[in-house]
Amino acid sequence: MRVLIIEDDLDIATNLYEFLEGRGNVVDLARDGVTGMHLAVSGDFDAIVLDLGLPGVDGLCLCSKLRREARQDVPILILTARDMLDDKLAAFDSGADDYLVKPFALREVEARLNALAARRRGRVVDRRLCYEAIEYDPAEFSVTVEGKTVHLSRKCLRLLEMLISAPHRVFTRSELERELWGEEHPQSDSLRSHMHLLRRALTDAQGHAPIETVHGVGYRFAVSDGRQA
Ligand code: CA
Repeated sequence: MRVLIIEDDLDIATNLYEFLEGRGNVVDLARDGVTGMHLAVSGDFDAIVLDLGLPGVDGLCLCSKLRREARQDVPILILTARDMLDDKLAAFDSGADDYLVKPFALREVEARLNALAARRRGRVVDRRLCYEAIEYDPAEFSVTVEGKTVHLSRKCLRLLEMLISAPHRVFTRSELERELWGEEHPQSDSLRSHMHLLRRALTDAQGHAPIETVHGVGYRFAVSDGRQA
């Protein structure tokens, strides 16, 4: 994780710097608000640790400038000696994500930074659709099972996308056919052939395919035989 520390107190800054760097992070340090603002705007950081009482630009002002003028959404953890409710509310109001009152434990700073950075990454991950170990990424039309890529034809991908988007829901044959072939009528066993290919690919990847045939109706994603929900 790339972390920017903006803190004028030399002892606190050094402690934070050495601790976070020692934990495998790439750390930058600014000792005043102007330098901090410059680094925050120009650097690509996963999180910022920001002191409130700073020479030059005050922490609250820096925070709101980053959000409102520079349009930066990097997670910001405020560190401060001010512990009144109004101070905390002002920090959140200026766009901070989290708040720690001095004195603090270094491990808590790290834990909070990790949580903030993970939540930010989650904005991207959230688009993915998962079922058991299967993960479908609609942005990249890619499928992985236990992290390994599974190659599927375009129609099989579309089938998987529909089923995984609503696990346990039964999709009727005509619904799936319309999705894959539009108004042109496919050959009678086309859907079954593609479903067979999809099942085989998933079975090859993880030993079973969680696709259930609902006789006379269609198909659905469900825990497969022998694996009770
Ligand atoms: Ca300070």
